[in-house]
Amino acid sequence: MAQLRGFASAAAQGADIPEVVCFEKQSQWGGQWNFTWRTGMDEHSEPVHSSMYRHLWSNGPKECLEFADYSFDEHFGRPISSYPPRAVLWDYINGRVEGTGLRDWVRFSTAVRTVTPHPISGFLVTSEHLPSQSESTEHFDDVVVATGHFSFPHVPAFEGIESFPGPVMHAHDFRGAEELADKDVLVIGSSYSAEDIGIQAHKLGAASVVFSYRTEPMGFGWPASLEEWPLVRRFQGRTAYFRDGRTRGFDAVILATGYRHHFPFLPQELRLRTANTLYPDRLYKGVAAEETPHLYFLGMQDQWFTFNMFDAQAWLVRDMILDRFAIPAAEVRRRDIQRWLNRMHAIETVREDVEFQADYIRDLIELTDYPMFDLDAVVEIFLEWKHDKQADILTYRDRCYRSVMTQTEAVPHHTPWIEALDDSSAAYLSTAEVPVA
Ligand code: NAP
Ligand code: MG
Repeated sequence: MAQLRGFASAAAQGADIPEVVCFEKQSQWGGQWNFTWRTGMDEHSEPVHSSMYRHLWSNGPKECLEFADYSFDEHFGRPISSYPPRAVLWDYINGRVEGTGLRDWVRFSTAVRTVTPHPISGFLVTSEHLPSQSESTEHFDDVVVATGHFSFPHVPAFEGIESFPGPVMHAHDFRGAEELADKDVLVIGSSYSAEDIGIQAHKLGAASVVFSYRTEPMGFGWPASLEEWPLVRRFQGRTAYFRDGRTRGFDAVILATGYRHHFPFLPQELRLRTANTLYPDRLYKGVAAEETPHLYFLGMQDQWFTFNMFDAQAWLVRDMILDRFAIPAAEVRRRDIQRWLNRMHAIETVREDVEFQADYIRDLIELTDYPMFDLDAVVEIFLEWKHDKQADILTYRDRCYRSVMTQTEAVPHHTPWIEALDDSSAAYLSTAEVPVA
């Protein structure tokens, strides 16, 4: 959606833009924010893309992800809280592009099967329109991979887990915590999914949650029924045996063990192979495949910043495709990548981590006409957010921040997050009727 918007914005300024075709496997756009109740396979036996769950609310302030060219004020016409639920965020990203004609650029329910470098130039792209099962192969000069990297679960094995008698699922297949009420839940992992699914379970009445960490505990001030234990070594029936010698019985196991960058539609030599990191290697400016001209990737980084980073990337990719930005020689590209990698490897503090991504985005925006915004102010919001979570993991979503785009102060949601069970758009928006000045 960022890439389409980027081209549309150049066209609106009178630029000649090429034909743009967007292949979307789902019947609706929105990617991760396009919630589905399905797990495993979709209605066409394709792997389900979205890892979204029913009661997901943003886990970071919306003031950190706001588009610089389409503010929350412009969309909602009034201030809202800082942590909207998923339906509200989908509404926002949809609102920027709906009704602008961009839907015509998208082939919905169409999966890309293969992307093959053409012997002379560009790529041959074979796609399948899933409802009709009709396949077609077309030539494109440039390919932008914008599939995200939180769709293919990383599912490690644990000894004896096959004997566990209750539900065992990866976070990708988690759709809601209702079924965890009164249950003793084991969540393996210690990052954002573990944290959020654990507190969802707590919110919806789980009897207890044990988080099991491999490297480091999250260290929040958990309520009494939530605890962090070291890694599970093995299972025997419903009993888990932990590294520190403790054992405990559970009713459900959730593997919040992250995702894989996985591009089955690309030939081996074009696949991006990387861990979830702030600067995947072999991407010039974090977007252009170092060794394959005309192949681009969006959003492949580990993410503090999200929507506005994807925009900055999409605007630069657009300019690379339009030859407004000349991609330099191989040595220059390597030096640029290496400079970022060196800086990343020297990161020691959370502040440096966030500032790294802010500076990366600044670098991109300076090369394009995407509106510059106060990245330093956003860094401070991220650090305050970290602090809020340390202060109270169950109430941080009740805090309000000020937009760096419009200076509008968020207003508290009518119901504290821990009590808010109806998180539909209608329920959420039935508040805050103060018009934006
Ligand atoms: P992630 O940040 O990549 O974390 C993966 C976790 O899995 C790490 O804690 C890692 O532990 C652990 N892990 C991997 N292999 C393991 C193994 N063999 N045994 C034990 N632990 C293992 O992935 P994520 O937490 O799924 O987050 C993905 C993205 O989704 C993030 O951008 C996040 O913000 C987003 N998200 C958002 C929301 C929301 O908006 N409410 C909710 C959930 C997720 P190590 O530290 O040991 O490597
Ligand atoms: Mg600029």
